[in-house]
Amino acid sequence: MIDGRESESRKLLRRLRDTMADDAAGQARLDKITHLTADSMKTEVCSIYLFRDEDTLELCATEGLNPEAVHETRMKMGEGLVGRVARTGKIINTADAPSARGFRYMPETGEEIYSSFLGVPIQRLGEKLGVLVVQSKEQREFTADELYALEVVAMVLAEMTELGAFVGDNAAMKARHTQAVMFKGGVGQEGSAMGHVWLHEPRVVVTNLVSDDPDVESQRLADAIDTLRVSVDQMLAGASGDKDQVEVLEAYRMFANSKGWRRRMEEDIARGLSAEAAVEKEQSQARARMSQVTDAYLRERLHDLDDLSNRLLRILTGQGGQAGIEMPSDPVLVARNIGPAELLEYGRSLKGVILEEGSVGSHAAIVARALAIPLVIHADRITNEALNGDQVLIDGDRGIVHLRPDESVVAAFRDKIAMQAKAQERYASIRDKNCVSLDGQRVELHMNAGLMADLPSLEGSGAEGVGLFRTELQFLLRNQMPKRTELASLYRRVLDASSGKRVVFRTLDIGSDKVLPYMKPHDEPNPALGWRAIRVALDRPGVMRMQLQALVRAAAGRPLTVMFPFIAQYEEYAHARNEMDKVLAREARLGHTLPESIEVGTMLETPSLAFAPDHFFTEVEFLSIGGNDLKQFFFAADRENERVRRRYDTLNNSFLTFLEGIVIRCRATGTKLSFCGEDAGRPIEALCLAAIGLEALSMRPASIGPVKSLIMRTNLGEVKQVIDQARLRGDQSVRAAVMAYLREQG
Ligand code: PEP
Ligand code: MG
Repeated sequence: MIDGRESESRKLLRRLRDTMADDAAGQARLDKITHLTADSMKTEVCSIYLFRDEDTLELCATEGLNPEAVHETRMKMGEGLVGRVARTGKIINTADAPSARGFRYMPETGEEIYSSFLGVPIQRLGEKLGVLVVQSKEQREFTADELYALEVVAMVLAEMTELGAFVGDNAAMKARHTQAVMFKGGVGQEGSAMGHVWLHEPRVVVTNLVSDDPDVESQRLADAIDTLRVSVDQMLAGASGDKDQVEVLEAYRMFANSKGWRRRMEEDIARGLSAEAAVEKEQSQARARMSQVTDAYLRERLHDLDDLSNRLLRILTGQGGQAGIEMPSDPVLVARNIGPAELLEYGRSLKGVILEEGSVGSHAAIVARALAIPLVIHADRITNEALNGDQVLIDGDRGIVHLRPDESVVAAFRDKIAMQAKAQERYASIRDKNCVSLDGQRVELHMNAGLMADLPSLEGSGAEGVGLFRTELQFLLRNQMPKRTELASLYRRVLDASSGKRVVFRTLDIGSDKVLPYMKPHDEPNPALGWRAIRVALDRPGVMRMQLQALVRAAAGRPLTVMFPFIAQYEEYAHARNEMDKVLAREARLGHTLPESIEVGTMLETPSLAFAPDHFFTEVEFLSIGGNDLKQFFFAADRENERVRRRYDTLNNSFLTFLEGIVIRCRATGTKLSFCGEDAGRPIEALCLAAIGLEALSMRPASIGPVKSLIMRTNLGEVKQVIDQARLRGDQSVRAAVMAYLREQG
């Protein structure tokens, strides 16, 4: 198998390794590499282009082109053949470059005399670093072997770049992982924090790239794959029934046994790479593919392959977990993604969380919210850039992350945090006061919760109770359906911790975005409008009955408040209420102590319920407007879809008029009404909701201070007048008018 070309490429690799060992400056190393490569590949030209900034490539070294052009010639991403290789991440191999699509002639380089062109991307784990090019006068296409050899050089270049082998005076030759980088992601949970990076998955650095003895490397790879296979089999044997987990492990096993994967790595080794370099080369190519795949399932499988490669690298390099590395005292967790249970395990010790993936509605986001730690999602490529211990600032309000920030940014951030701390002091000073507006209107402020971890906030925030306890979180965090005794004991602890304050337990709200891992998924064309929440509960009443029993037993002698989600018409409420009554009767028969009192209400999340008959309003003991869902159905705008979820203002006049209609109906029927969507926690929105007559708002605990502080400094009657005037004028939203009024009031 070893033909002349291959031994040539192995020779080249060895010479590259020696270059790396040389104690030379960055520029000298780059020059030497272009010289060696051109020599080995028998081409007149070899050039290295590196990224100067995100969008600009710079010629950093050349053999054959005009040396004066080095650090002078630049091109934008996508510009010319080199720019095209950079943009697409794909190789260009052409016998006649000047007539190739996109060719752009750079006169200062003197390249017009060269006809053939072969350009390969320099990239590491999916990150673009530059382009490596060879050119020659002879008009010919390069062979597959030559192409391969150049790819391997590009890979070694990428690794050496990572290791800082080319650091020099020039901007394109700056040491990696030392510069300040800003990431613009999405808001997962508001709040700001500063701290130091803690990588959820430690990164493996490959220092040994080139080997002398392919047989030894091949054996190392074989041993490592054996170890990996055994560990995957063990994980599979120990896996619980969790379908997703099993699916991932099955995929691991499939890759671990994949002949193609192994053969490609064997070939890399035969051509002179070390076992770990061969694994990383495969991994890099999989990552490059990942960025182009749009199919969600395929992407997941490529992620699995990526995870598996990481495991293999850890086995080969002995760089195991984070044992021996100390977690910083102010850790900010950085991960590609994380499961809710893992995040919960880190707990409140974290200052913040930054994810490359994730979504607002993900379970991890729900946990971050419960723990009240800022979360930024979609911070693209941060796991490539961040190193353990790097300083990091996280601005959860804007979804921005500053990694290794400059002093000036740190100073500005400190000021912001100090201002927030001052505001917190102000909130603490009014914590035990009732929320009463300047004109004497009383507004009850409650908090939303869903985990035991939330309960300490009840005391800390000054909330008057829990206006919404989302019971589905307990179900979502597990691999199997919780038992009645477990639930009863949890609900008991929640009631204990609330020391007599009212807790509104909402029965299981699953379906749509909340899918239980242990329930058969149903493919629905439109899950948000599908079989969810009370619809599931009424069709399969077993789980809801079990949950109601657990609640009744937990309350034993204490007051109990239960709320049904997603009721769209009276009959659904009547059926659910009937279930409750049956459970109470059964519990009494069994001799259990019943709750001291029972309040049963429903969420109002579908517009239809606002138009239910009067007897619905008189029969329910309370209603709580679920603004998140109600708004998505009112405007027909998916709350999970980034393109539309912020498109319509909550303070849109039509929506406020609709909400006010509900307030008026509830007043007429004497129905207790509250509002528990996310908007209740936004001060301006909360103010307007209170002004149109909502006397109870339930929000995340961190919002209670800001909302209370604003309402207490405002005359709600006047705000109502401002809203009415805006309505009369026909303003689309009342926001501008209300903001102008508040500014006027100082
Ligand atoms: C809502 O829809 O506003 C609500 C509070 O429920 P959830 O966000 O859990 O759907
Ligand atoms: Mg809802």
